[in-house]
Amino acid sequence: MNALTFQGKQHISYTKIPDSQLLHDTDAIVKVTLCAICGSDLHVYHARETGLDCGTAMGHEFVGEIVALGKKVVSLKKGDQVLSPFTTNCGNCYYCCIGLTCRCVQGQLYGWVQNGLGLHGGQAQYVRVPLADSTLVKFNQSVSPEEALLIGDVRSTGFYCAHQADIQAQGVYAVVGCGPVGLMAIIAAQELGAEKVYAIDNIPERLNLAQQFGAIPINFTQQNALAIIQEATQGRGVDAVMECVGSPAASRLSFDLIRFGGTISTVGVHTSTQFTFSPMEAYDKNVNFKIGRSPARYYLQQLLNNTPNSPYDICQIITHQFKLAEGAAAYTLFDKKQDGCIKVVLRNE
Ligand code: NAD
Ligand code: ZN
Repeated sequence: MNALTFQGKQHISYTKIPDSQLLHDTDAIVKVTLCAICGSDLHVYHARETGLDCGTAMGHEFVGEIVALGKKVVSLKKGDQVLSPFTTNCGNCYYCCIGLTCRCVQGQLYGWVQNGLGLHGGQAQYVRVPLADSTLVKFNQSVSPEEALLIGDVRSTGFYCAHQADIQAQGVYAVVGCGPVGLMAIIAAQELGAEKVYAIDNIPERLNLAQQFGAIPINFTQQNALAIIQEATQGRGVDAVMECVGSPAASRLSFDLIRFGGTISTVGVHTSTQFTFSPMEAYDKNVNFKIGRSPARYYLQQLLNNTPNSPYDICQIITHQFKLAEGAAAYTLFDKKQDGCIKVVLRNE
């Protein structure tokens, strides 16, 4: 079979890899119909996270059809249309039971193979899914395959980010970073009742979409985000910030924007080893700080149920479509944010 494989720093190729096979009775094989490139794939693409084997199939955002099942899989059948969170889940461990599915003790991240061990990704013709019963979720025609694809990661991550921000109707909020995840956080914050959400970025197309989704755009290279927000809140700052970037600058801005007792909900992936604010500053602000990987699996069914009733068309973030075989060019475009690119979908044709 063919897959988009990691070949080293900034080098993705469409190459042949061994066919996906059932290795355990609890596995399923999914024929991928649609997959997407995620901001998180760029950490791998730029080899910021070292140790990935060359030849690893990339990606963790995919939907498709079940084509093979291990003997112990009970809730799925061949032909089912399924989506997946970006990690596998056992459904039984302490963390799965408390809803922190991203920390499942048996969880594996797709697209991560090191020294021959791990799990190939979903930017491929087929993908092996371990723990299929508790990882995959079926979807029907009430959502489009594109919606299901977004629900698997960016929609659920944006929703988690907003959920962690403890949204109240009268509150004032800011989303820092209006990439796919931030745009989904804007939508989620409003679905959870927020009436006033500021959207901070410096890419005009993204800010335009944020505005179409009901947020108040702030271009941080042209406007003073802190001054605007202070003026809008009698000098207090926002009740919560949803940080969807993953950089020290975004982290510091988030800290500066919140009021005393406010909340920073961070889903941006951070790789630095220091906080951008000191314990003393955090103490002096009575800050609530929440950070981490999204427990996507926990939110999937709820979001499959809610998305058809949402007033927002989440698929507006999909700006580009490519064939899977053309995925290397898609990576370049997505990485460089060329041609107004926000989200790229790849079709397995
Ligand atoms: P993206 O790179 O498309 O979006 C980031 C946006 O932030 C860009 O539009 C950029 O212009 C903007 N930005 C950069 N610096 C900024 C600053 N200082 N202030 C305001 N905006 C700034 O990425 P994405 O796909 O939307 O993902 C966002 C982050 O979320 C990434 O770090 C990604 O790895 C992470 N992520 C985390 C999870 C999780 O489970 N926690 C899941 C998916 C993605
Ligand atoms: Zn588990």
